[in-house]
Amino acid sequence: MPTVAGKRRNVRFPFAHLKTAPLTTAQKPQKQTQKQNQNQEKRPDTRSTSSQGRKMASQAAPHPGTPALFTQPPPIRDPLVTETTDLQDATLSKCLPFLKGTSDLQKGPFNASGVPALQRDDHVEYLYDSLEDYPAGFVAMDSSRPWMIYWGLAGLTLLGEDVSRVHQRVIASIRPMQNPTGGFGGGHGQISHLASSYAAVLSLAMVGSSDAFALVDRQAMWQWLGRLKQADGGFRVCEGGEEDVRGAYCASVIISLLNLPLDLPPTSEARLAGFDNLTDGLGEYLSRCQSFEGGISGSPGVEAHGAYAFCALACLSILGPPENTIAKHMNLPLLLSWLSARQYAPEGGFSGRTNKLVDGCYSHWVGGCWPLLQSALDGKPQSASAPSTTVGSLFSREGLDRYILACCQHPQGGLRDKPGKHADAYHTCYVLTGLSATQHHHYRTDSSPCANKNFSSAFSWRSKPTSADENVFEKSDRLTAFHPIYVIPHQAAEKMRLWYEAEPFAT
Ligand SMILES: [Zn+2]
Repeated sequence: MPTVAGKRRNVRFPFAHLKTAPLTTAQKPQKQTQKQNQNQEKRPDTRSTSSQGRKMASQAAPHPGTPALFTQPPPIRDPLVTETTDLQDATLSKCLPFLKGTSDLQKGPFNASGVPALQRDDHVEYLYDSLEDYPAGFVAMDSSRPWMIYWGLAGLTLLGEDVSRVHQRVIASIRPMQNPTGGFGGGHGQISHLASSYAAVLSLAMVGSSDAFALVDRQAMWQWLGRLKQADGGFRVCEGGEEDVRGAYCASVIISLLNLPLDLPPTSEARLAGFDNLTDGLGEYLSRCQSFEGGISGSPGVEAHGAYAFCALACLSILGPPENTIAKHMNLPLLLSWLSARQYAPEGGFSGRTNKLVDGCYSHWVGGCWPLLQSALDGKPQSASAPSTTVGSLFSREGLDRYILACCQHPQGGLRDKPGKHADAYHTCYVLTGLSATQHHHYRTDSSPCANKNFSSAFSWRSKPTSADENVFEKSDRLTAFHPIYVIPHQAAEKMRLWYEAEPFAT
C-alpha cells in the first residue's frame, strides 16, 4: 500500500512512515526483526516467566477493588484430569496475575475497581503501523489484504481516530482487487471471495466518500452473488469453493449495504432449485446449522463455534427483525444455554467452543451475539428510543471488561488472544469491538432511514452508553459504538446504504 499522506504516529517501525524511497534490501531484514520482536512480549519478566515468579505472582494479594470471583479458581471442578483440563489450568495460571493486577507486564494506572486503563495511544500507534509495509515473512497474509485494511480502520475508528483522511489510500489499495466478473479478491490478481469482498466493502464504508462508494461494480457483484447462491439456500464463499455460514453473512451484508436487487440474476443456477430471490431458503439453511448443543456451526452437522454463531445471528438480523427471524429459525433456549456457557470465570472472557480456552477475539464473535439475541427477546420496537422494558444484559459486562483490559492488552501496544500471546491486527480489532459492545446498549427502533423496505430493519439500530454502575472501565476509556450487525459505525452503514439507494441500478 502507498504510505499514508500526512501525520501519523510511529514508534515501532521507525522508517516505515518515511516518504522517501522504499526500503533497501539491507533495511528489510532489520525491519522484519523489529516486527517479529514486537510480536513477542519483549520485556521478559523474570519474576513472572520463571516458575518461582509465577508462584509469587499468583500468590500476591489482588489489586484492591477486584472481587474474589475474578481472582480465584472456580470452587467446583470435575475431578477427571485430561489434556483439556491441564490446558485450562495452565491458562488460568497465566491469566490470574493479570486479573489480580499483580503482573509487572501490565501498565497502569489501575482504577478503583482494580482494572487497568486502556492504553489508547499505544493501540493507535500499533494500528497505524499495521497499515504500513510488511516484511517478506508476512507473504502468507497476501490473500488477506482487504482484511488488514478493515482491521486497521475499524480498530482506529473504535479508538476515536478519523479514518476518512486516508480514503484515497484505501481506494488506491482496494481498486486493483476488484474483478471484472464481480467481487473482490484477497489480493491483486486473486479470485473473488466473499470474505475479502465483505472486508473491502466495509473498509470503503468506513472511509465514507462518494468516490469510495462509486468504486464498487454493483452489477458485476450481483451477477457474481447469483453464481454463489446454492440450491440449499446458502452461499459458497467463492466459485467452486466451500459453502458455509460466513458466506451467508458476508453476502447479506453486501446485498443490504449496496442495495442490490433481491431477484436472482436470470442465469443463476439456484433458479433451478425453485428460488427467485437471493435470500430464498437462507433462514432455513442457517436453522440447519444449529447444533445439538444449541450453538451454531459453519455448516450443517459440524461443531458449534462462536464466530459462526455471530455470522448466523447477524445474517438473520439482516433478513428481518430479529424477534421474527431469530425466533423463527433458532431454538432460543438451547442457543442461550450454549452462549452463556461461553463466558468463563474467573477469566471473564469468552471461549469459542465447548471445552476450549478463553480468547480475546470472541469478545466480538460471542460478545456480538448478545445484542442481537437481546433484541430478539425484547420483541418488536415500539418507539424511536430505547425500549422501556428489556431483558437487559444477558452476559457479564464486568467480566468481559476485566478480561479485555487486564489480560488482552499487550504492553507494547495492540491487543491479543490471552497473556503470553503476541498482539495482531485481527485481535486488536475484535477485542476492541468487544470492549465497545460492553460499553453500549444496542437496541432497535420503530423507524429506519431507508426508503427501500428491503432489509430496512437492519438500519433501525441505535445505541446508548451504558451507565457507570454497569461496567468497570474508566470514563475516558469509552470507545466508539459500532453497528451490531455491520461492525462499523452506525453512520457509516447508513451513509453507504442511502448513497446506493440514490443510485440507479441497471440490471
Ligand atoms: Zn482469537
